[in-house]
Amino acid sequence: MSEGAPGSVCIVGGGISGLALAFFLHRRGIAVTVLEAKARPGGTVASERADGWIVEGGPNSTLRRSGIEDALGRLVQDVGLGDRLRAANPLSARRFVLRGGQLIPLPATPPAFLSTPLFSRATKVRLLAEPLVGRARDDESIASFVRRRLGAEFLDYAVEPFISGVYAGNPETLSVRAATPRIHALEARYGSLILGAIARGRIARQAGSPRGTIVSFAGGMAELTDRIAQVLPQGAVCTGCSVRELKPLEGGGWSVAWNGGEAEFGRVVIATPADEAAALLRPLAPAAAQALEAIPYAPVASVALGYRRGEVAHPLDGFGFLAPRREGLRTLGALFSSSLFAGRAPAGHVLLTAFIGGMTDPAAEALPEDELIAIVTSELGRLLGISGTPVLARVHRWPRAIPQYTLGHLDRIADVDQALAAFPNLSCVANWRGGVALADCVRNAETAAAAARKSR
Ligand SMILES: Cc1cc2nc3c(=O)[nH]c(=O)nc-3n(C[C@H](O)[C@H](O)[C@H](O)COP(=O)(O)OP(=O)(O)OC[C@H]3O[C@@H](n4cnc5c(N)ncnc54)[C@H](O)[C@@H]3O)c2cc1C
Repeated sequence: MSEGAPGSVCIVGGGISGLALAFFLHRRGIAVTVLEAKARPGGTVASERADGWIVEGGPNSTLRRSGIEDALGRLVQDVGLGDRLRAANPLSARRFVLRGGQLIPLPATPPAFLSTPLFSRATKVRLLAEPLVGRARDDESIASFVRRRLGAEFLDYAVEPFISGVYAGNPETLSVRAATPRIHALEARYGSLILGAIARGRIARQAGSPRGTIVSFAGGMAELTDRIAQVLPQGAVCTGCSVRELKPLEGGGWSVAWNGGEAEFGRVVIATPADEAAALLRPLAPAAAQALEAIPYAPVASVALGYRRGEVAHPLDGFGFLAPRREGLRTLGALFSSSLFAGRAPAGHVLLTAFIGGMTDPAAEALPEDELIAIVTSELGRLLGISGTPVLARVHRWPRAIPQYTLGHLDRIADVDQALAAFPNLSCVANWRGGVALADCVRNAETAAAAARKSR
């Protein structure tokens, strides 16, 4: 690995947050070293390619935003992956929600909303009155916010499944301000989600920019993390290097010790999950460690199933489906992976990726592999009219998959920042702050790189 120089930056953790930060700093002429504990870079980005299948163990795609927010697009171009980027099939705009054993498309237009069997007439009328509901003052759970503004049925059949799709979380405990800041901002700015969404749509149309595109890469999401690791200077990414200790040096630099080495750097950025960050910070900034330890994580298992096309009756004409908890399934939802992007399954086959566990069923993630496959096979079989047995079944377990931005999360992050203010050359960039989506991690890394440049 490259030796730590006084002006160089050591990044602890080589997931997308750490790798993207490393690349953005490198582009600005700053020497970087990424120390990654595991044998491969990428963190939760884990694409497996074999026999014509591309199975994603972690993120399957991400939402690329437009304009100034498109840090992902800038990164992709700069690492030379522009020709490998793939937009999801336009069918992905269609998302199914389970109700009464049927998969019903989530309405995407006002006329579709008025005619959908997904919501009762009372909920539809209630939605029209939403602009009249007053604003909340304090931090509020997503469930309370949605019940207050849109009613319980909208929570159960639209928001809760969406929250389960993004956070594998429980809307009763997640903070609306921290976990869904864009939705919270609609109320804060426009006084209404409906009026705010209409105004935002108008602004986006006038700017001629779509609000977002779901993207992946021809060979799966790991193309991005693998490419970043490749284009960084030789030795800049050190795998199998688990950082054990950070020691401040006189003059503002840091001594970093890992299994098998120690070096000095001008600056350290921690890009690990919150518990690992807490372990590193405990001797230096106990208040930061305490705040980080209070961030819960949802356990999730992803179960990828491949079938012969002729044995699946459902047209798989959409993004996938989400199963509200009230419907009694253990499967949280499934992506129609081979409908979203070409090349995910061999000819004549389809690939489905289901998720199980999350904050509402945390024990599921640890079930034996054959049990997980049996549950998902049986539940998907009923819903999608599957007659055959899977020709491919792969399970990926994530005991600490997604950080939960629960009530008080923003206060916890403020406590971390306050405790770290005593160490000007130490900071954190990871998915436990500023958004859990992969594209959020890239945007936060770009912002952090710009700030590091200014503070040099
Ligand atoms: C199952 C699943 C599905 C997902 N689906 C999507 C999706 O469809 N779309 C989307 O946008 N996002 C999705 N996400 C979220 C997104 O993938 C993650 O939030 C993002 O990849 C996290 O990146 P990160 O670099 O912050 O953290 P991580 O990927 O967790 O990386 C942190 C790295 O730090 C390393 N590390 C830890 N401790 C140390 C140490 N002491 N020394 C050195 N290294 C250390 C770890 O080994 C790890 O590689 C999904 C996540 C999961 C788990």
